[in-house]
Amino acid sequence: MIANFGYKDGSGEFFITIDTDKCNGCGDCIPVCPAGVLEVRENEFDPLAEDQMAAVKEEHRKKIKYSCAPCKSDKSSGSEPCISVCELNAITHSW
Ligand code: SF4
Ligand code: SF4
Repeated sequence: MIANFGYKDGSGEFFITIDTDKCNGCGDCIPVCPAGVLEVRENEFDPLAEDQMAAVKEEHRKKIKYSCAPCKSDKSSGSEPCISVCELNAITHSW
């Protein structure tokens, strides 16, 4: 399923989306994130899932625009470290 983490406000929509059908919880996206935004946890959306999944940490969900700002300032969309490292293409961003 599609798990969206983030929010929208007057300046736009800021969501990191994890496709839990693709994500196998490998954890490759964790160490490449300079802001410590991501974690691997139990799949809260599908209790029957065997794999864990990547998720945005609770403390970043309401400020993700700012947490991710260093990656967004000098890179074109889609080249962020978390997106680039994921071989399963399980991560997308809305902005
Ligand atoms: S790198 Fe991709 S498959 Fe691995 S935990 Fe992160 S989102 Fe999931
Ligand atoms: S865009 Fe950068 S700061 Fe945001 S989750 Fe991905 S690697 Fe981490």
